[in-house]
Amino acid sequence: SATIKPLVAGNWKMNGLKSNVAEFYKMRAGISDDLADNVDVMICAPATLIAVLAEKAEGGAIALGGQDCHAEKSGAHTGDIAAEMLRDAGASAVIVGHSERRSDHGESDADVNAKARAAWRAGLTAIICVGETESERKAGQAVEVVERQLNGSVPDGATPENTVIAYEPVWAIGTGLTPTAGDVEEMHKAMRDNLENRFAGAGSAMRLLYGGSVKPANAGELMAVANVNGALVGGASLKADDFLGIIAAYS
Ligand code: PEP
Repeated sequence: SATIKPLVAGNWKMNGLKSNVAEFYKMRAGISDDLADNVDVMICAPATLIAVLAEKAEGGAIALGGQDCHAEKSGAHTGDIAAEMLRDAGASAVIVGHSERRSDHGESDADVNAKARAAWRAGLTAIICVGETESERKAGQAVEVVERQLNGSVPDGATPENTVIAYEPVWAIGTGLTPTAGDVEEMHKAMRDNLENRFAGAGSAMRLLYGGSVKPANAGELMAVANVNGALVGGASLKADDFLGIIAAYS
């Protein structure tokens, strides 16, 4: 929809030391006011860097996000991070249900749903990830799998302000492979229909990101697909030149 402002969010995953903060500063400097009028930009940094980057982000166009949160506000959960802590460090959003969390940590749709509600409780936007595996796509089940993940992972009460959906086919993450524009269009239409059935007008206005091997060279084509309202970018968000090249698809 032409009225939805796109979002390009970078996911740094488990990458980034204080010595890499210069790259963030280069990104911030590369986003003109005109560009910022057309596209929202975010970096989902490792939790250890959010407070460091928040200082560098001041006065610029880059928002900050976390990559995961615990469902509870505080307590005896050694090593976990609460949504409230991310917010306190300077984040305005958090990724939940990334496929690497679902596979490395066995997170279920119910877990992701609870984390999304924790994000809202803390005043963060939940970036909820869904996506089929290669074998699920080959079996013709991609749309069915993603709809099941949406139904289970997106809590009641989702709005365009508190929720962003990211479609990330697992087989496209970090592989250099991408679905065809036609396959992306089919999936994003199915997600839009699902969200409109459940949330009416809020479902029409929610941002649907595509993620999986987005690069400057394919960003234009992928971002032009109907119902694609931005990108979630892994590897290509680590270097300012690549990330700015993707953002330029909206200039
Ligand atoms: C991701 O993991 O969110 C992602 C999209 O990774 P990449 O861009 O590296 O495929």
